Amino acid sequence: MFALTLRPAAWIEDLRGSLDGQPLIFSGVGRGRLQALVGVDLEATGRRLLRLEGRDPQGRVHVRKWPIQVRPRRAIVQRLTLPQHMVELDPEAATRVSEEASRLNGLWKAVTPERLWQGAFLSPVVSGAKPEGFGLRRIINNQPRSPHSGADYKAALGAAVQASNAGRVVLAEEQFFGGNSVVLDHGLGLYSIYFHLREFTVKTGDVVQKRQEIGKVGATGRATGPHLHFGIRLNGARIDPAALLRLSLR
Ligand SMILES: [Zn+2]
Repeated sequence: MFALTLRPAAWIEDLRGSLDGQPLIFSGVGRGRLQALVGVDLEATGRRLLRLEGRDPQGRVHVRKWPIQVRPRRAIVQRLTLPQHMVELDPEAATRVSEEASRLNGLWKAVTPERLWQGAFLSPVVSGAKPEGFGLRRIINNQPRSPHSGADYKAALGAAVQASNAGRVVLAEEQFFGGNSVVLDHGLGLYSIYFHLREFTVKTGDVVQKRQEIGKVGATGRATGPHLHFGIRLNGARIDPAALLRLSLR
């Protein structure tokens, strides 16, 4: 992920951008500059096309294209052997899991047109713990699982979990894998996800400020011990949270 910052020539009208046809959403960041977040999914590889277009006062369209080569991540692979009954879901749980997954995937499709966040994104825990395990591939009983789509922060049970940036709560509920889960919509297609909370202290529809406490670290759902699973989605793409936290944004 990176932040694309432009200062378009004064004569350019109607500037638009896209990555592989997916529109980029620019917002003004002062002094005539525009900024858009650009990111590709954890499993994306190969050539991507960044395209910008704008009109001149005579109505002619000017197009610029930049190919971007995305290299595959060097993933850490973890092989585990577990008793099969711990791996297989009973039919009721399987139905629940697929319903919850489709509800989450439905959230990413909505793009709130306003930018609700401001400035840099913050670590969701204040302890200084490092994000770990993004993209980790688990092979359980010789079956590859989908890669770990978030970063895990080690933290004490009951430690405060804070909103990484300002946004709106679009999900606050108990889920099978995520346990007590909160999802924040930051606008412009960007979402942050907080799993395994002992409890959450917000409800769907709440507007939260950056650093506002949204819950406590727990071990609910499928968690082996207290930690926070923190995920980032940009237009549905699974983004490395550490990459977002590194950006200096205005
Ligand atoms: Zn996790």
